[in-house]
Amino acid sequence: MQNYQTKKRFGQHFLHDSAIIHHIILSIAPKANEQLLEIGPGLGALTFPLLEKSKTLDVIEIDRDIIKFFNDKNDPRISVHAMDALKVDLSSLQNSTHPLRIVGNLPYNISTPLIFHLLKTPELIQDMHFMLQKEVVDRITASPSNKLYGRLSIMVQYTCKTESLFHVSPEAFKPPPKVNSAVVRLTPWQTKPYIANNFSTFASMVNQAFQKRRKSLRNALKGHVDISDIEQANINPNLRPENLSVADFVTLSNISSTKEKD
Ligand code: SAM
Repeated sequence: MQNYQTKKRFGQHFLHDSAIIHHIILSIAPKANEQLLEIGPGLGALTFPLLEKSKTLDVIEIDRDIIKFFNDKNDPRISVHAMDALKVDLSSLQNSTHPLRIVGNLPYNISTPLIFHLLKTPELIQDMHFMLQKEVVDRITASPSNKLYGRLSIMVQYTCKTESLFHVSPEAFKPPPKVNSAVVRLTPWQTKPYIANNFSTFASMVNQAFQKRRKSLRNALKGHVDISDIEQANINPNLRPENLSVADFVTLSNISSTKEKD
């Protein structure tokens, strides 16, 4: 579409660097029998190169002008879902028993809530490749004791293997964003390394712990576990939440959920 005016409110920064686009497609390595879902296709910078490999593609887009752009193309290979990606029900899109491969140069303002939304149904997803703000990728992939390690790292790493693939500078986009970007691959675990017996207890414990990031564990986890529970888990109660691994949080939440049942 010529002379298209990008819209700030939809986080529109369109990719135009062909080397970066090629690198993303190579990282995804789509195959013809897979079901690909692209979130926010914009003017198709990733969509059309993806279609060369995948043959069909579902796209979710919120912007009416872009929806019209795709509808006018009347391309039988593209299924357009005119909606807010934050409200998508993945089970309604799945048209085979294959889990979905999800792709997107995501609007940065919705990327974290969108990832949390998609992670509610990890069994429907084979993998996700997202362009995100670099700092968000660093948070997602951070290890314990790193200053960026927190709720996002733990909740995503609990559900997925996380890989930071490569960095992308602002000049790769039109208009260029004010921040650096990076591409991340999230692959839901087929077999989780650690299992929280009660997911909502685990989620609420992690949430509470990082609201009190600088406090000792004992204080940060008040109401869930006490000092003897922390010691029983072989964890030093003088540590801070940011020092605990995903496995530590799972262990503590399993102790807490056992106590809830008693
Ligand atoms: N994929 C294109 C590219 O790489 O050039 C566009 C990426 S642009 C960063 C983000 C895209 O997501 C835009 O097309 C925007 O309209 C769309 N978008 C923004 N908010 C959305 C939402 N809530 N649901 C679905 N699409 C959304």
